[in-house]
Amino acid sequence: MEITYFVSDCQIFGRFAAETLIPRFSVIVPLILLAVCERRIKDYRYGVFLYYMVAHASMWATIWSIWYLPNKDFAREGFIIMHFAFLAIGLGMPVVYHIPIHSLVLLNIIISNMWNHYEHFNMMISLAVPVFIGIIFIMLILENSYADQYLIKKELEKTSITDNLTEAFNRNKINEIISDDETEQLNIPQSSDIVVLMIDIDKFKRVNDSYGHDAGDKVLVFLAEQIKRCIRSSDMLIRWGGEEFVVFLVGAEMEVGLRIAEHIRHSVEHTENEVCPITISVGVSRYDGGNYHDAVRKADRALYYAKGHGRNLVVHYDDIADEDLKGYTETE
Ligand code: GH3
Ligand code: MG
Ligand code: MG
Repeated sequence: MEITYFVSDCQIFGRFAAETLIPRFSVIVPLILLAVCERRIKDYRYGVFLYYMVAHASMWATIWSIWYLPNKDFAREGFIIMHFAFLAIGLGMPVVYHIPIHSLVLLNIIISNMWNHYEHFNMMISLAVPVFIGIIFIMLILENSYADQYLIKKELEKTSITDNLTEAFNRNKINEIISDDETEQLNIPQSSDIVVLMIDIDKFKRVNDSYGHDAGDKVLVFLAEQIKRCIRSSDMLIRWGGEEFVVFLVGAEMEVGLRIAEHIRHSVEHTENEVCPITISVGVSRYDGGNYHDAVRKADRALYYAKGHGRNLVVHYDDIADEDLKGYTETE
């Protein structure tokens, strides 16, 4: 946008508009900031706020440039184009947030008039107000007709991969992260460094038998919360079966993975829940880039080993002697 504005500056001057070169292209600074910050932002709404910031910076670059122009009359058109930039950004934002941010465009014009002294300031405002109102109407219509459907679609996508009880992922999540059904390789960033944990509550049948199924459910929710507390948001917690959870620790060395597994085991044992004390056993393996089933199977074997050696343990598959692996029957 600033490039085309610069062309119009040259047309006003009838020559290369050296004066407005720096003001026009000062917008590069917020653009660089946007590029740096955007990657770190997870919530898309904060990302949209960044875009708004750049749009406002662009407006102030325009205001700065106009100060040099011999004829400021065309600023009117320039500012109207700005409204459309805000409309484009606003499509990613609920209208209630958009209105105050967009109305700052009018405020920018009013404030900058103090030194820019636009030739037809009253006309500028009389035209900007209906454009502003029109854009808000367009956004309301779009929000009512399309945004609802979009949100419903997003919600459905989320519920199809989420376990109702614990709000961990369910096994459908796997279909989302494997590259194809044949190889069943995990297709996630840093997948060369994934530690797999298979977690199972010890003697959970007793909890159900003594306190009832609903109490058992509360224990499951408690366990999922404890695990989530010990892992990062980039890791993945999947409810694998009844009271079994699989965790993919993404980008983790084995040493770190084992430490996290031990941290989970320890915190479950030493944190009170509203039903009864519980312990867990954890099987640990490394995902080697092939079929994810192999890594899950190894973690399951390690878990089985932990169950057979006293429970309330973290066992790394590689630490199990070959002869101990014999006689293993899969519980998956
Ligand atoms: P172990 O230490 O060998 O794991 O003993 P365990 O009693 O925990 O045995 P197992 O892992 O086979 O127990 C599975 C039990 O988990 C059986 C079932 O009653 C219970 N369970 C499975 N899903 C649910 C659920 O959604 N809610 C509740 N409350 N219990 C469940
Ligand atoms: Mg089990
Ligand atoms: Mg169990």
